[in-house]
Amino acid sequence: MQKKEFQTESKKLLNLMINSIYTHKEVFLRELISNASDALDKLFIREIGKDRSGISRENLKIQIEVDQENRKLKVSDNGCGMSEAEMDEHLGVIAKSGTLDFKNTAESAVEVIGQFGVGFYSAFMVSDKVQVISKAYGSDQAFCWESEGEDGYTIAPCQKEGHGTDVILYLREDSDEEDYSQYLEEYTIRNMVKKYSDYIRYPIIMEVEDYSAEEGEEVKTKEETLNSMVPVWRLSKEEQDEKANQFYKDKFFDFNDPLTKISVSIEGMVSYRALLFIPAQIPYGYYTKNFEKGLQLYSNDVLIMETCPDLLPDHFAFVRGVVDSADFSLNISREMLQHDRQLKLIAKNLERRIRNELTKMLTDDRETYEKFWSAFGLQLKYGVYQDFGMHKEDLQDLLMFHSLEKGKNITLKEYIEAMPEEQKEIYYATGETHLKSSKMPQTEMVRAKGFDILSLSEEIDEFALKILREYDEKPFRSVSDAQLDVMSPEEKKELEDFNAENQSLLYDMTETLKSQIKAVRLSTRLKDNPVCLVSEGEISLEMERVLEAMPDSRGQVKAERILEINPHHPIFTTLQSLAGKPQELKKYTELLYDQALLMAGFSLDDPTDFSNRIIEFMTTAKKEEE
Ligand code: ADP
Repeated sequence: MQKKEFQTESKKLLNLMINSIYTHKEVFLRELISNASDALDKLFIREIGKDRSGISRENLKIQIEVDQENRKLKVSDNGCGMSEAEMDEHLGVIAKSGTLDFKNTAESAVEVIGQFGVGFYSAFMVSDKVQVISKAYGSDQAFCWESEGEDGYTIAPCQKEGHGTDVILYLREDSDEEDYSQYLEEYTIRNMVKKYSDYIRYPIIMEVEDYSAEEGEEVKTKEETLNSMVPVWRLSKEEQDEKANQFYKDKFFDFNDPLTKISVSIEGMVSYRALLFIPAQIPYGYYTKNFEKGLQLYSNDVLIMETCPDLLPDHFAFVRGVVDSADFSLNISREMLQHDRQLKLIAKNLERRIRNELTKMLTDDRETYEKFWSAFGLQLKYGVYQDFGMHKEDLQDLLMFHSLEKGKNITLKEYIEAMPEEQKEIYYATGETHLKSSKMPQTEMVRAKGFDILSLSEEIDEFALKILREYDEKPFRSVSDAQLDVMSPEEKKELEDFNAENQSLLYDMTETLKSQIKAVRLSTRLKDNPVCLVSEGEISLEMERVLEAMPDSRGQVKAERILEINPHHPIFTTLQSLAGKPQELKKYTELLYDQALLMAGFSLDDPTDFSNRIIEFMTTAKKEEE
């Protein structure tokens, strides 16, 4: 029989397949099953309108058969089949336009597979020889196409019952690098079908071992449908509600039900379905670099990418789910997807849907939102900060912070709504805990005025607020900011007078601490506490602390510190009485500064020295008493 040559392009590709270094060899089964499914679709669609009684959808199926002994793997379908001419045309060429210009390298393999879709040819990645026995629907004659690779192929008449196609792979012998025998194992085949072809709409049937046999009895076999066939995202709303949670748990390995699901079905410029989930708990390793965000991408129920990162923005990286769109080809590569316009459209749409869902949860089901927030609030705050605040407007209404007044989380909108009329800014305090924040001396006057304070306890918080700058035209203001201005005109006037009277005292104190702070001044915010530290400019004390903890920014940025003294506190009278005793004043000033540092959560450079100075004070005080 005369051998026919493959067309040049196909020959190159075939060569690539045969010597393939492509690492995802297992996709060959997906490709063959997908071709079989197409053939069943074609038969069904082509014949359905003609009212031919022979075809009912229930009888259409895909069958996998294994012959361990002869290392044969067969994938059959009773679809449209191929005539001799069709075999020649479809299996002898790659029906794609454009020239193939590639070298036989690993990168090139991935690239070519991504670009052209190797489909049927992928069979050669695992086989020495491939036979295709096919009988076109309505024809009496079957044909057998056969090839051992590059040399070419033959087509000859043969016998076959019924219409459809059998693709028979003669698997290669195992080598040191590759275990081809695994493709003859029930376990591997099951997994491959589950992973890539679970939602093919026709049953994929295989003869499997039946373990129900009693002891001593011979293990029997039975036919089993390996795929679940119906993708949850195609179910009716009621059925989906029922099945979605189980689907989520199986698919994404979570023990808990998701907090909520988002179901999307769009017909239009791009058509797609999506089923998304918001987990109830932080997935293992979520806040680490190793976490891979992304959604599963399907094309017509066939998995094409396990985690497609471009479908989700970073700030919603916690979302899990699937997207199915017939608009993507089975073999589109990661690189091409990245630039795909349709993918971008889908991603944009999904981003909006997720945001709307969260907004709805926040208004309608606060309890669930609180759960969401405790798991992923940090992610949203990072989202505000990321990309120079590009997403801040989209995310700001989803943020929550702890209110010192209410003792619970509130949104920025809720904060604004509860503001007294005379309040012009949104106040916040930074401490490791809400308790610490509530005891900060800097909060005294703000709270006495009846203004609420947001207590920030996470490192990212203040950075996020700095990026936001304002909410509803109300700027954010730290209670430790030198510019804080909550005094009444009378209080201001009084402070001015005090300042004028105590200029030289304040000057002497500033001189003492010159190397560490910018100035000592009378406080604009204290009521009962004697002293506190505040900062001037963009970098706050808290930000300085966070930046100090990062190796690459250590020592680079410093907050401009100001020591504030409460003129109404008895200590101030003591300080005034030390005029003319520079040594004494110096000691007092240094101790007050150290105390302000401690209250602000800083550690002292020399705690032993600090302790000794306190002891000395205590001893002198006792002596003076006697
Ligand atoms: P693609 O499926 O992307 O078109 P393939 O190389 O996988 O490319 O297949 C080439 C063509 O061979 C198919 O388009 C189809 O016409 C034909 N073909 C492959 N497998 C079958 C099958 N099981 N039944 C009928 N036709 C098939």
